[in-house]
Amino acid sequence: MCGIVACSGKGHSQDVVVEGLGKMQYRGYDSFGFALVTESGSLETSKSLESYHEEKILLPPSQVLLGHTRWATHGAVNLTNGHPHVDPRGNFALVHNGIVENFDDLRSKLTESGRIFITSTDTEVIVFLMAQQLAEVQLAHQLVKADLTHESQSANSSETNAQIHEFRILALSRLQKKLKGRNTLVFLFSDGHILGARQGSPLIVGQGEQGLFLASDVLAFAPQMRRCFAMSDGDIVSIKSQQLVLIREAAMVVPKWQEVDFDVLESSKDGHKHYMLKEILEQWSTIPQQLQIEPDTFDDLVDSCVKAPQVIVLGSGGAALVAKQVAWILRNIGGTRAIDIPAYEVDAYECMVNETDIVLAISQSGETADTLLAMEKLNLWGVKIACLVNMPLSTMTRSADLVFYNRCGPEECVLSTKSASAQLTFGYLLAHAIKGEFSVAKKDINLLSHQLSRQLVKSEMNVYQSVVACLKDTPNVFLLGTGKHLATAMIGALNIKEASYVHAEAFSAGELKHGVIALVEPNVPVILFIPKDDLYMKTVAAEVKTRGACVIAICESENTTINENIDYQLVIPGGGSILSAVIPCQLLAYYLAIARGVNPDRPRNLAKSVTVQ
Ligand code: GLU
Repeated sequence: MCGIVACSGKGHSQDVVVEGLGKMQYRGYDSFGFALVTESGSLETSKSLESYHEEKILLPPSQVLLGHTRWATHGAVNLTNGHPHVDPRGNFALVHNGIVENFDDLRSKLTESGRIFITSTDTEVIVFLMAQQLAEVQLAHQLVKADLTHESQSANSSETNAQIHEFRILALSRLQKKLKGRNTLVFLFSDGHILGARQGSPLIVGQGEQGLFLASDVLAFAPQMRRCFAMSDGDIVSIKSQQLVLIREAAMVVPKWQEVDFDVLESSKDGHKHYMLKEILEQWSTIPQQLQIEPDTFDDLVDSCVKAPQVIVLGSGGAALVAKQVAWILRNIGGTRAIDIPAYEVDAYECMVNETDIVLAISQSGETADTLLAMEKLNLWGVKIACLVNMPLSTMTRSADLVFYNRCGPEECVLSTKSASAQLTFGYLLAHAIKGEFSVAKKDINLLSHQLSRQLVKSEMNVYQSVVACLKDTPNVFLLGTGKHLATAMIGALNIKEASYVHAEAFSAGELKHGVIALVEPNVPVILFIPKDDLYMKTVAAEVKTRGACVIAICESENTTINENIDYQLVIPGGGSILSAVIPCQLLAYYLAIARGVNPDRPRNLAKSVTVQ
């Protein structure tokens, strides 16, 4: 969802900012724009509805710039509604991530007082309110000064730069109190002063040899940054030239800079056409990264899981499905009472939640608004929370009691592939540790990684391309699994929907005769997950084949006997492991997207990091 970047450079910074905003594309966007102060001192903006191509973006030389990728929530996708928005006097430009929940109310009041809106965004409300607050703060100051000097004339023009910055900070802190919802804002004033305010959505401050940076995540300026810190909700940061001031609860505070290993945050397509394929194929190396668990924190989590009446696994979207599978693993391998709760439904489970439970909240970005909100509620209900994230410095890492990292490196494709298998692997390690068998899991994971390193190579992909031929022109695909493969089938259906826009739906195989079979007609592709030596799923294959389905079997081993009811067989790489069972559908989704002409890295309407509710 929306990406924000800003830079107050020591020299020309337009190229760095264009590159930085390019790195925010993975979050999902429908338009993008920049604001900058030119060398002659004027505030200028440029906006575009095109796809982001760094080489096509030509900005004038500038030291101070803002950039924004918009994921529209209010107002159509057009240039007028695109960010940055400039105040009517041209004093400042604003970029915004979030939703002003009381936007209707604020807009009616502003309209009544004579403001004329030119966009349909909620953001324009913020522009008018900021202009209003600035005027009020300045006026109050002049009145006080005039009172003291009895010379209101001379009071008008004598503010120092420092005072002007203070007025702006005061105006912004008053503005923050008027906005409801999660709204992170960055202003660029025509004198090159940058003001950032975080509420809900992330904002990282970085420092490097080329200057000071602000961004929605550390990836934007990873190559430029030497150190950084994450702002907290309510914080304001003021940047002018190379001076940085952090304000928390109306007082100046000293930032807690952190050194991050920025090199591991560099990503490339490694010669592949799309990040998605690169990220699928590198799972042989990301899965064993989970073995690097922080020992003390992990012992604490294991101990809590052993003692807690219930382990609650929490997530949103793809992570909610991973949570379902992790809960299955914790129950069936760890022997623990574990349930999964989709974060957006947490209220419905309140009566089941005990103070002594333990929560494992899963999110690749660590910024998922729905999961953060559910964590806040669980926290209020007194429950201990562990989080599992991939992105360093993310919001969840600051609101959880125990923090775990997947260490997969950046996942640029909107779909979760390597992060999903990493999250599952963490669950697998946890389940074994609960049983006192961590070393068994460790051995399994090392073996799995070894097998995947030989099997996840391009030369093994032909089989997926031939299966795609039967999926390419179909309106519907059904996926059936049971037990350990039910959540895997659901994850697979989500991958296919997201990457290729083919309607894919997963069900427990047990549901077939209770309804789904009505939808099975000649040539409908049905993907079945068939465990080793399983007779039940083979019966299911016969039942759908009888009705003319095109049956694609995803098997745990090549030895699974194929019969006339199965049209295509795919084998789960890595010896049929429950952790790599997600890979065949990831590959199907990828090749299906390619066959249907969809860019799988940037599917329409989707955002990687869903930072609004
Ligand atoms: N609500 C704002 C809009 O629709 C900001 C959206 C965003 O976070 O990108 O323009």
